[in-house]
Amino acid sequence: MEDSKKALLKEKIYKDIKKLDKKIEELKDFTQPIEPDCAIGRISRMDAINNKTVFDASLRNSRKRKKELEHAIKLIEEKNYGLCFRCGAKIPFDRLIIRPEVRVCVECGKV
Ligand SMILES: [Zn+2]
Repeated sequence: MEDSKKALLKEKIYKDIKKLDKKIEELKDFTQPIEPDCAIGRISRMDAINNKTVFDASLRNSRKRKKELEHAIKLIEEKNYGLCFRCGAKIPFDRLIIRPEVRVCVECGKV
């Protein structure tokens, strides 16, 4: 892969990580333990717990994606980056720029 393309991918990864960091910080505020008798205004405690479950899942996903992206930064430097892990086909740059962490082509990703 050309260095110019690698640079573009890295730029995209760093931008995504930054966005995720911001999201993770915001989600942390929503995933604080819920006090048994805290005043939560109009929403009931059940709602607060339901919302927390959603935010917890979102936080987990964000952290997981961040890890994948951080890993992708290292992958880019590998000689076979951009080639499908399974069949060896070249993964289109359009796909990599959206999901820099992918290791398989579209066809193999379907399986
Ligand atoms: Zn493939």
